[in-house]
Amino acid sequence: MELKDRIDTLKGVGPKKAEAFAKAGINTLEDLLNFFPRRYEDRRKETPIGELETGKDFLVRGTLLSKRYSANPYKKNAPLTLLVSDGTAAIEVVFFNGRYIAGLFSVNREYTFFGKVTANFERLQMVHPEFHKAGDPADIRGVIPVYPQISGISQNEIRKLQLQLRQLYPGLAEWLPEEIVREYRLADPSFAMEHIHFPKDGSQMLQSKFRLIFDELLTLETGLFYIKNETGKAEGGIAVDGSTASDFVRDLPFDLTEGQKTVWEDIRRDLASEKPMSRLIQGDVGSGKTVIAEMTMFAGVKCGYQSVMMAPTELLAKQHFASLKKDFSAYGVEIGLLCSSMKTSEKRQVLERLQTGEIHILVGTHAVIQPDVKFKNLGIVITDEQHRFGVNQRRLLSQKGRNPNVLVMTATPIPRTLAVILYGDLDISQIRTMPLGRKAVRTTLFHGDERGRAYNFVKKQLAEGKQAYVVAPLIEESDKVNARSAEELYKELLTKLKGFRVALVHGAMKQEEKDDVMGEFAAGTIDVLVSTVVIEVGINVPNATVMVIENSERFGLAQLHQLRGRVGRGADQSYCFLICASDSREAAERNKILCETSDGFEIAEADLRLRGPGDLFGTRQHGLPEMHISDLVRHGDVLEKARNAAKKITEKDPRLEAEELRPLKQRVQKMFGEDIRLEL
Ligand code: ADP
Ligand code: MG
Repeated sequence: MELKDRIDTLKGVGPKKAEAFAKAGINTLEDLLNFFPRRYEDRRKETPIGELETGKDFLVRGTLLSKRYSANPYKKNAPLTLLVSDGTAAIEVVFFNGRYIAGLFSVNREYTFFGKVTANFERLQMVHPEFHKAGDPADIRGVIPVYPQISGISQNEIRKLQLQLRQLYPGLAEWLPEEIVREYRLADPSFAMEHIHFPKDGSQMLQSKFRLIFDELLTLETGLFYIKNETGKAEGGIAVDGSTASDFVRDLPFDLTEGQKTVWEDIRRDLASEKPMSRLIQGDVGSGKTVIAEMTMFAGVKCGYQSVMMAPTELLAKQHFASLKKDFSAYGVEIGLLCSSMKTSEKRQVLERLQTGEIHILVGTHAVIQPDVKFKNLGIVITDEQHRFGVNQRRLLSQKGRNPNVLVMTATPIPRTLAVILYGDLDISQIRTMPLGRKAVRTTLFHGDERGRAYNFVKKQLAEGKQAYVVAPLIEESDKVNARSAEELYKELLTKLKGFRVALVHGAMKQEEKDDVMGEFAAGTIDVLVSTVVIEVGINVPNATVMVIENSERFGLAQLHQLRGRVGRGADQSYCFLICASDSREAAERNKILCETSDGFEIAEADLRLRGPGDLFGTRQHGLPEMHISDLVRHGDVLEKARNAAKKITEKDPRLEAEELRPLKQRVQKMFGEDIRLEL
């Protein structure tokens, strides 16, 4: 048995199960070994049947008194009913679709069951509990690991397979340099594996968990430092004099906010140095990041360099293109647009003008990363809403110039402590002030039965010529989830808001269709845009003054804040209506925070406090690799240790060339995939 063997070499895994595993990303024995429990269940104590309570999980042991299976040929899922007693009382154990399972039980034998106790009339019941009979290898008693769900594979099956994998443990050698193992007092890999899958006592399990989390975070941080070194070590970057933007700044119809001024100072310093800039700007929607990007690009152009600005959607790219054209028209700066939906002839023309240097600033979608896009002398690279882009996409774009200056803009607020760690490869600036005179969006909470009032208000705003967004959590109606769907809502509003132009946009539509509808909304030919969260990203329609969020209890705080940021972009007072159908405490707390503050950073911190990292800090969103056992927020202390260790390693050996770092290097490569290319 070897780590690289395929999973179907295990006993009990045929083609069907192998496929189920593959869907969960598990193909080899090594993958399964690194499939860690999500939590543990303490099942050390048996409870006498006479003392069971309904509604909770219990472990019981008893003798099978009788077994009833009514094999009705017309009913596929005829139940199997067992009566089990331990002398204190009896309980009924039921398995639907009992045909296959009936043969596993014999009367008068003893079994252990674990599951939730319910009541069927007066009688206690367990439906589909886990069970164990004397002599089975995988026990259901003790401290039992609970693995993440894999559709088509039961918990018990996973545990049995993990038992088979135990043979591999002795072969798991230490792979980290001795120095690190000693400094961080790391448990041995085989010990860690044993105690994570088969915990015997709490402290050994915690030691093991620490080791495995440390491994994962060390790999992550080493990769990030490697990327930072590769991009940052570049000598002979391009120096740009920021003061060349002063004309543009002087002509702006407003004064820069304090936050904007500070960030601009950071950028000017970066630009002046030969070391390429590599900076992240975080700032709430509407805090004025785009102007900063414009100033940066303007200075670049004045100093003889081209700039590129990449946006995550075509609509956003076009929006930027339009505003850059407008803002730069007086200065003779040429702007080009590149999107994949453009005609080949149009594209060719843009590419030619780009290569000759006729186009100073290129705006576009992912299309700008394509190999055929060549610049004459690219000096400034800007990505907007960067959490939609991966590390690799950013790098590909940078490679189109010789060590250009990179600026990344994001409206996803992240507490600074976390950002420093997450964006290991970037310097960070924050804009925490909003432009003067900006009216805060007035946020109001409505309970489900007050919807009518909310929509009456919407009608009034529409009658004044304003526009509105209405967001629903689902696309289609669902029997399973009790929430409004965008389609249902759309139909309802067609009647309710008769006389106004209502349109629907959702994530399952083609990108061009979405762009079309949103384009019409931006142009004002649509009054009400009903949607799912697809409109979350940066669309800018100043005339839209109302945001209605249906079933607000189904959205996270950060998401609600982002949605709210779609309005309040013009001079008029804007409104956000949260329609909440839940009485839960969490929902109430989220709504309260939102009604009270509009500071994105404050909201991010509250979000963190309320629900832990969740989606907001999901690494995927930030273009980072997916973590298996670690949680970047909850394991912040381990992260810091791992970061220090990674820093030490990469300072000593930036390219990870030492033989003793080979296993780490392999792990980094595996984790980052195409985002990194290491010589192995
Ligand atoms: P962001 O990209 O951060 O969401 P934008 O750069 O699009 O924000 O700015 C939103 C609006 O505020 C734009 O219309 C912009 O012209 C305006 N704006 C930017 N900075 C200022 C400022 N200092 N004072 C007044 N208005 C500003
Ligand atoms: Mg923006």
